[in-house]
Amino acid sequence: MDGIGLKDEAGPAATQEKAQVADLIREIGRRLEEVYGRPDIPQGNPLSILIRTILSQNTSDVNRDRAYTELWNAFRSYDEILESPITSLEAAIRSGGLARQKAIAIKNALLWVKERYGNYDLSPICEETPERAEKLLTSIKGVGIKTARVTLLFGCGMALFPVDTHIARVLRRLGVVPASWSREKIHRFLDGKVEPGVEAPLHLNIIRLGRNVCLARKPRCEECPLHDICEFARRKTKGENSE
Ligand code: SF4
Repeated sequence: MDGIGLKDEAGPAATQEKAQVADLIREIGRRLEEVYGRPDIPQGNPLSILIRTILSQNTSDVNRDRAYTELWNAFRSYDEILESPITSLEAAIRSGGLARQKAIAIKNALLWVKERYGNYDLSPICEETPERAEKLLTSIKGVGIKTARVTLLFGCGMALFPVDTHIARVLRRLGVVPASWSREKIHRFLDGKVEPGVEAPLHLNIIRLGRNVCLARKPRCEECPLHDICEFARRKTKGENSE
């Protein structure tokens, strides 16, 4: 499936397309807010958000929260987490899945924060530009763009739009981006196209749509508020979908 997001180079066509994509994203946000309202925006210090976001990879919010609680049942401080054997950390966060991978990423993140700032306060990163802050966080092994952006959006209030698996699926189906695009490419493409200040509600509402309506295996297009502007739904009606 093609998307309207095809010209990511400079030039008049790209400028026109940028405005077109920005309008479409604004319309998506408007419709979702009409249905879901303005979501509560999670708050927290950047380091705890970073740890929670690492724990959230490939699992539900319930499992992430359980793993986070169990992490703090097992350890009393960040120092203790950092100094413990990887197997102890892995055991503590097992309920969230991918425990070894997440344990390594958490240790890498804590070590990085301690070495860079001298303690476990990541908030100085909020003083950086969004581009630099993202670059810094993604230099930590195990921290990808989405995790970095979630941390900076919710922990620092930076104007960055994180694209998770639900958002990528919804945007591909809508035809905002081609079906073949990676999440990394979608992140880059959307830069400058999401209205500043709406990143958090837009992020949360598209995820809600992805979890409840635009399901991975069987999207419920009939009940979707984006039905009439969706490429996937249009093709489905014409019997053209291969997904
Ligand atoms: S119309 Fe269907 S495919 Fe399109 S966004 Fe809605 S649920 Fe997803």
